[in-house]
Amino acid sequence: MGRVMVLGSLNVDLVTRVERHPQPGETLLGDGLEKLAGGKGANQATAAVASGADVVMVGAVGDDEGGAAYRERLRDKGIDVSRLRVVSGEPTGHALIAVDDHGENTVIVVPGANARLDDTEVDAVDDLGPGDVLLMQLEVPIPVVAAAARRAASRGARVVVNTAPYAALPADVVALADPVVANEHEMVALAEAGAEAGSLLVTFGANGASWDGRSVPAHAVDAADVVDTTGAGDAFCGALAAALAAGDDRDSALDRALAAGAAAVRHAGAQPDPHL
Ligand code: ADP
Repeated sequence: MGRVMVLGSLNVDLVTRVERHPQPGETLLGDGLEKLAGGKGANQATAAVASGADVVMVGAVGDDEGGAAYRERLRDKGIDVSRLRVVSGEPTGHALIAVDDHGENTVIVVPGANARLDDTEVDAVDDLGPGDVLLMQLEVPIPVVAAAARRAASRGARVVVNTAPYAALPADVVALADPVVANEHEMVALAEAGAEAGSLLVTFGANGASWDGRSVPAHAVDAADVVDTTGAGDAFCGALAAALAAGDDRDSALDRALAAGAAAVRHAGAQPDPHL
């Protein structure tokens, strides 16, 4: 069985509730403060380890309490954190989230240490070989994602790139990813950019997914059981990478990803039991 290396972001999500969102210059009181584990990289690493993969997380945190707590959380889940770098002079990535009475969110992302990934992280990819999977998203510097993708491909590892949040990628990286995983919006952005994917897997929320034109329905979830769709895409990608590293064929890997996406909408937060 191959390994899954997830190169990407870790964020501490600070969530409070407000009656309404403040106007510029205005101060309002928030009700409660939750500290939740987030960031697409760590969300996907957590989903991959939950799917039974041998997972290494490549990324960076700041020299602060949130970073230390997050490292411990990932280690407790069985994720190899030896490639998780501590950078000084930057905070751990944070998302400042206010949720109003209508469920509408405002989010301020402070990339912090996530923006400091560099060649150190690209060099971590040298640990990979045939049978292994490198899984990446786009909350970290794009030149690092591109260099890591090329390095992994040259070593015979499989590269899976989730184009979330959407950012333009070099054409050769879009071409070598197997697959590029995009939601509907990202698929449109990719098409508008004229990027030719070698293999494209598009997720359609409750309508399932389509891999190189072969469509598969979602695993049905009763509307009453849909608690929070945040993180469905991350659970999908983590489970997909785990299945591919385990040697599953496309149909079986896709089915495991659909199952993980459906399970994710049944719980609040981007990871199961997300409190830090
Ligand atoms: P993203 O979170 O990146 O926007 P999607 O909303 O397309 O991604 O969801 C990713 C996957 O999660 C879908 O392909 C599907 O397998 C699963 N999923 C999402 N919403 C639901 C739902 N309401 N019922 C069942 N599965 C869902």
